[in-house]
Amino acid sequence: MPDMSENEEFPFEDANWDGLEEFTDFVDDFRADPAFIRKEKEKARQLRASQWWKNRRATGICYYCGRKVPPRELTMDHLVPIARGGRSSKGNIVPCCKECNTQKNTMLPVEWEEYLKHLSEKHD
Ligand SMILES: [Zn+2]
Repeated sequence: MPDMSENEEFPFEDANWDGLEEFTDFVDDFRADPAFIRKEKEKARQLRASQWWKNRRATGICYYCGRKVPPRELTMDHLVPIARGGRSSKGNIVPCCKECNTQKNTMLPVEWEEYLKHLSEKHD
């Protein structure tokens, strides 16, 4: 796993996008149809350029941990990854901070569930 801690600017925008989905493929048995993945990724690109997403990101709040971060540090995340059949719909796309993004990328799905549970306990 590459050490990101030295990077001031984590490449959230386009550079990180494909890698994120590929990793999800790797940890999950289910593989969506490549044509479906291409289509949903294209839809995600369009959504990312939309006013809806700009407004969403402008709140600066991470969907998962609830922390407020600079809007430019929020990345677009699919609740259900495209590779697992998730769609690029407004209901499936959330803003996600650097830390949660990194966690989600490095954890197995079951570990990610635990992480989210831990976060919600902290909120209470
Ligand atoms: Zn977060």
